[in-house]
Amino acid sequence: MFPKLAEDLAELPGLLEETRTYATRILAGLEDRPAALPGAPGSSVPLPDSGDGLRAAMAAFAARWEPGFSGSAGPRYLGFVTGGSTPAALAGDWLTSTLDQNANGAVGSSAVSLEREAVAWLGELFGLDMPGAFVTGATTSNLVGLAIGREWLGELRGVSVTDEGLTGPIRVLSGTPHSSIGKSLSVLGIGRKRLVPVPLWPDREAVDVSALERELAAGPAIVVANAGTVNTVDFDDIRAIASLKSRYQFWLHVDAAFGGFAAVSPTYAQLLDGWAEADSVCVDLHKWLNVPYDSAVQFTRRQDLQVRVFENQSPYLGAPGDNPDPMHLTPETSRRLRALPAWFALAAYGRSGYREIVERNISCAQEMGTRLAASPRWKLLAPVRLNVVCFTPTESQVADVLDDLTRSGEAFLTPTVYQGIPAIRAAFSNWRTTSADVDRVCAALGV
Ligand SMILES: *Cc1c(COP(=O)(O)O)cnc(C)c1O
Repeated sequence: MFPKLAEDLAELPGLLEETRTYATRILAGLEDRPAALPGAPGSSVPLPDSGDGLRAAMAAFAARWEPGFSGSAGPRYLGFVTGGSTPAALAGDWLTSTLDQNANGAVGSSAVSLEREAVAWLGELFGLDMPGAFVTGATTSNLVGLAIGREWLGELRGVSVTDEGLTGPIRVLSGTPHSSIGKSLSVLGIGRKRLVPVPLWPDREAVDVSALERELAAGPAIVVANAGTVNTVDFDDIRAIASLKSRYQFWLHVDAAFGGFAAVSPTYAQLLDGWAEADSVCVDLHKWLNVPYDSAVQFTRRQDLQVRVFENQSPYLGAPGDNPDPMHLTPETSRRLRALPAWFALAAYGRSGYREIVERNISCAQEMGTRLAASPRWKLLAPVRLNVVCFTPTESQVADVLDDLTRSGEAFLTPTVYQGIPAIRAAFSNWRTTSADVDRVCAALGV
């Protein structure tokens, strides 16, 4: 064995203890770490010839890279939609790497059974009675749902797209789709230009269901319903869309990347009314479940079509069978057991724990929205429907506001454009955030 590797093996317990101490110190400083950093340029060094073992690697990381890492796991990183990592999720993630399972049934491990339990728990949490699998993020979850929809449309036309490739254009209808839908259509060979933007209700990001119905009258399609848009967390009327199924042929995919967590709160669950009737559903987990990157779940009621798309048969791996292995369900073949952090988090905090996190985040967003609305220096661009505040300064430029805020280290918010207006979003989805953090963000903004 390479001598430095043999030394690390001999010292493994002590080295892991040092790693734990280091990680604990980082976590203890998370609240004070700048929410975001411009990115340390870092002078590059050449590849070491022999290396100096784990302890030296950790010292080099601590000196050269860690100071430039943001506090994105902390309570005032409100950019994009960013979760953190709960204690249980972090422990589950450490153990995922410790046990280092390939999450496939053929490898002789109960890892896949644990993944199935975690998917079933998520189904119970969300009120969805469909099988599913873990993937790396909502982009991949959307890609899988759309791939199954592509196969379903092929079946209507009497072709297997999986075997033959696309034989004709596919229309994809959506009101305010996330950018990952276009990316998925590109990867799937459907084409970004096949995305048909359907008109919205006035002053909303939700699709006009009558306009959608007119598009559906033109022939079979894939419909992407949006359950939580990025700018204003608007929800399509999924119940009304699902009811069109009695008259038109379409695959209903619901992108509920973070909006799906409305299901854990009796106050907000009705926003998702009808989503259990979807053909496929996407929910991100590294956002509001607060598990570490990367993790999402995809659900579908047509696992038969899913296996057709993703099956990975070979003499040494075996055929999919009745209860298909995840490698026959997702783009990856060898897979990290990313179900374990989610399993730990659900086992540790359960339904009530997530209800508390989600409702606390929503009330933080509402509090910030109320304060901004009361100040003449700011304008709210949409009501705070869930966990995102979308607003714009009346006396200064968005870029200046955000630069000053990022430089202060107090908080990180991200820009957008809503209805043609340059705007700012504050998205609350971290388990640590409290109303004291809203105070600090508002103080830093001068609200
Ligand atoms: C975040 C998000 C995605 C993409 O998620 P990734 O985890 O970044 O792949 C898709 N749809 C919506 C609505 C999102 O908010």
